[in-house]
Amino acid sequence: MWINGGWLKTAKTIERTSPAHGAPLARFAEGGEGEVGAAVAAARAAFDNRSIWSGIPGSERAKAITRWLELIVRDTDRLATIEAEEVGKPIRFAKGETEWAIELGRYAAALAYQIPGDLVNNIGDANLGLVSREPRGVIGMITPWNFPLVTLFQKLPFALAAGCTVVIKPSELTAGTTLEVAALAREAGIPDGVINVVTGSGRTVGEALTGHPGVDMISFTGSTVVGKRIAQRCAEQMKRVGLELGGKAANIVFADADIDSAIDGIAFGYILNQGEECVQGTRLLIEESIADDFIRQLVERSRKIRIGLPDDEQADVGALIHEQHMEKVLGYIRTGVEQGAKLEIGGERLTGDGLGKGYFVAPTIFSGVTPEMTIFREEIFGPVLAVTTFKTVEEAIRLANDTNYGLGNGVWTKDIDKAIQVSRELKSGTVYVNTFLETSVQMPFGGFKDSGLGRENGMDGLLEFTEVKSTFIKLGKRGYALPHTV
Ligand code: NAD
Repeated sequence: MWINGGWLKTAKTIERTSPAHGAPLARFAEGGEGEVGAAVAAARAAFDNRSIWSGIPGSERAKAITRWLELIVRDTDRLATIEAEEVGKPIRFAKGETEWAIELGRYAAALAYQIPGDLVNNIGDANLGLVSREPRGVIGMITPWNFPLVTLFQKLPFALAAGCTVVIKPSELTAGTTLEVAALAREAGIPDGVINVVTGSGRTVGEALTGHPGVDMISFTGSTVVGKRIAQRCAEQMKRVGLELGGKAANIVFADADIDSAIDGIAFGYILNQGEECVQGTRLLIEESIADDFIRQLVERSRKIRIGLPDDEQADVGALIHEQHMEKVLGYIRTGVEQGAKLEIGGERLTGDGLGKGYFVAPTIFSGVTPEMTIFREEIFGPVLAVTTFKTVEEAIRLANDTNYGLGNGVWTKDIDKAIQVSRELKSGTVYVNTFLETSVQMPFGGFKDSGLGRENGMDGLLEFTEVKSTFIKLGKRGYALPHTV
C-alpha cells in the first residue's frame, strides 16, 4: 500500500492469478479499517495544510502534475506490461490505455490554470458578491479492474487539479499500476499525503472508505449494484458522490448507413477489451431490410479477429479477468441459446494455440434476439453481441431505450436529420453518430438512469471535485476624497 509517501506492508495478502496463463502473478497487501484510517488521516493533513496543495496557485499544481506525467511517459512500457498481464488484455491496448491516461492528465493539468469563478456586481453599490469554486476536500476513489489506469485518470488528475487530496482503493484484481503511479507522484515532488492507495477488498477497504467521516466525496467506477450501495452509504453522511456504472449500449444501423464503416464500428464496439467495457456496443439494432447481409458480413469480420496472450503484439482480444467471470459469460451464452436466439458464431471457450491455461472466450454473435431475452437486458461484460431487427425509426428508438442503463448508444445513417433527431431521443450520456467509442478529454462522460451520477472529463469533470461558495461583501460608505477636491 502507499500511504503518506511511503510503502506499507501487511501480513495478510491477496494473491492475483494471471487471466491469460492461470498462474500466480502478484501479491498485494490486504488492508482493513486501520489502513483506511491512516490513509484518510494523511490525506486530511495534506489537505488542511493549505500551503502545500489545496491553497497553492493552480499553476503550481499544474506544474507538479505535469512533472508526474513525464515520469509516467518514461515508464509507459513498464506500466503497460503490468496492466496487460493483470487484466489479460493485449499489450498494444494496454499501451494505448496508458497513453490515454497521460492525455487525460495533461488536459486536467491545464484546467488547473482556469478553474472558473464569478463576480456579482449588480446587487447594489453597498454589496459585492463572489462566487468561488473550492476543492471539495478528501476524495475516496474506488476503481474497477477492466481499465485500471483510464478509470483512475478520469478522476485523479482532475481532483488533483482542483486542489483535492485522495485515498484510492483500486480493484483487488488489478492494483499494480495504481500503486506504481502513486509512488511516481513522490518522485515528481507532489507532497506526501496528497495521493494514498489502500489495497484490499470492496467488503473491507471499500466499505471503510465510504463510511469514513473524514472523506468528503466518493468517486466510484464499477457495477450498478455496488454503485447503488455506495450511494446509500454516502447519503447517511450527506457525502458527495460521483458514480460511473454499467451499460448496455445499442448501435442502431439504418439501411442508408455507410455499411463498411458500420461493420468496422460494430465489430470494434463489441470486442474491445474482450467486451469488458462499460460502453460496449453489446446490442446491434439493425433495419430489417439489410439485416441478413449485414449479419453475414459481420460474422465474416468476426472470423478475422485475433485472440491472443498479452504479449502477442497482433492480438485484438485477450483473456477474461478470471475463471468465475468466464463461467458467467459462458452461462449467458447458454441462456441465449436456451431462450431461442440463433448463435451465428463463437459461443465457446478457446483453448488452442497456447490459450489453454487462460480464460478466453470466442467472439460471439446472436441474431434473432428479442427484448425479453436475458442477453438483451443484462450487462454480460464479455465479447457477446445480441442482434435485433427493427422496421421503423420509432421502433429503433424504443428498443435502444428499452434498458435500465444509459451510458452510450450509436447511430449509423447518412441522413444527418435522422441522426440528430434520433440522438436527441436516446436516453444516454453519450451518443456516437457514424462512429463508436470515440473519446475526447474535453467531452464530459457519464450515464443517464442506472449508469450513474455526475460526469467525468471535460470542465464538468473537474467541477465535480469542487464546492461552490458564495461570499457576500458589504462595502463601507464611500469615505475617500480625491486630492484635488480637498
Ligand atoms: P465492482 O462494482 O464489482 O467493483 C468496483 C470496485 O468497487 C472494486 O474496487 C471493488 O473492490 C469495489 N467494491 C466492491 N464492493 C464494494 C463495497 N461494498 N463498497 C465499496 N467498494 C466496493 O465492478 P468491477 O467488476 O470491478 O467492474 C466492472 C463494472 O464496472 C461493470 O459493471 C462496468 O460497466 C463498470 N464500469 C463502468 C465504467 C464507467 O465509466 N461507467 C467504466 C468501467 C467499468
